[in-house]
Amino acid sequence: MLPIVTPLELRLRHIIKTAGSISVARFMQIALSDPEFGYYQTRDPLGVQGDFITSPEISQIFGEIIGLWCVVTWQNAGRPRNIILVELGPGRGTLMSDILETTKKVSQEFINALKVHLIETSPVLKKLQKAVLKDYEITWHNDIETIPSEPALIIANEFFDALPTEQYVMTKDGWYQRHITVDQEYDKLSFINVPITKEESPIFPHQISNAKIGSIFERNDISEGIMKSIAERTRDNGIASLIIDYGHTQTQLGETLQAVKSHNYHNPLTDMGEIDLTSHVDFQALAATSESLGVRVHGPITQRDFFRTLGIQQRTTILAGKVEGGQVPLLLEGSRRLIAKDGMGTLFKVMAITTKRGETPAGFEFDLLGNQS
Ligand code: SAH
Repeated sequence: MLPIVTPLELRLRHIIKTAGSISVARFMQIALSDPEFGYYQTRDPLGVQGDFITSPEISQIFGEIIGLWCVVTWQNAGRPRNIILVELGPGRGTLMSDILETTKKVSQEFINALKVHLIETSPVLKKLQKAVLKDYEITWHNDIETIPSEPALIIANEFFDALPTEQYVMTKDGWYQRHITVDQEYDKLSFINVPITKEESPIFPHQISNAKIGSIFERNDISEGIMKSIAERTRDNGIASLIIDYGHTQTQLGETLQAVKSHNYHNPLTDMGEIDLTSHVDFQALAATSESLGVRVHGPITQRDFFRTLGIQQRTTILAGKVEGGQVPLLLEGSRRLIAKDGMGTLFKVMAITTKRGETPAGFEFDLLGNQS
């Protein structure tokens, strides 16, 4: 029986046939962002009906606490009269909507000082964001480069995991790059290892110098580039950035390329364009890039520690007293999930960036070891 091949896979097979195998990052980029058939270009992937769910979609408390964090961070920076709030990859616009609803209630002065800028490439999600945020003045951008150079709070939740990563494999002849090709015998996409070309010869960090044959190392230059831009903006224009995502606090070996469809894991090389592809974020690499540019890095700490320090339990109790009885279990379950020790609470990390002289932002007073910074 012939395998069922999506239009995007046909396009990719053509690319491979004419120009040869492609790297994992290029594969991810086509799978997620092909202008016609790319995953994010064609659908809203979020929610119960979609493929995956994110923290702001689980509970409004997530956005409320981040909103309060924004106000406090702005106050600590001396309440500048003009500030931009930037979100990368805002999904359905839920987080931004919850942030604005909350901040409106606690500080009109903050809202008056604020202009909102969203960075989004998906036309489908942009449309949803426009509907959810119709009461606010918002400017959309395709990438961070066009964001104005002004004091900014920059937020990214589950954005970096969606950026294309490269993979390298340790072989008996040293590091090779992992590529995707068409397996002629079985007529399907498959991984192969190819020698690394001189031009792109990456530097392999010391943390993985003991890699055994078969080990995989992931390196995300696109993430590094965006992190660089965020850090430079925070350094030059002031205030702070907040990055939340799943990933590891230390650079390490391991394959984390992950495909998801309808809330289940999936083969990353089938159903191209209809599955979500992500990889874990290397927070140590992002922190090192930022520090090298002269900003202060706070954390990464676990999502559990961040939200507990900022009072998620108290906020949940207060809100539970206000909502209709029937909604209480959902509310409690949402908060539990966000900070679960054996789930999102520890898988997700939170990292902030401030100027060298910026104060330690709320929530980061204690680092991963429980030491006060
Ligand atoms: N932050 C949201 C959505 C996470 S899904 C939430 O927490 O619910 C990833 C988001 O990043 C989507 O909005 C997707 O369209 C966007 N995205 C992915 N790659 C992008 C890129 N290169 N530039 C801008 N946005 C991107």
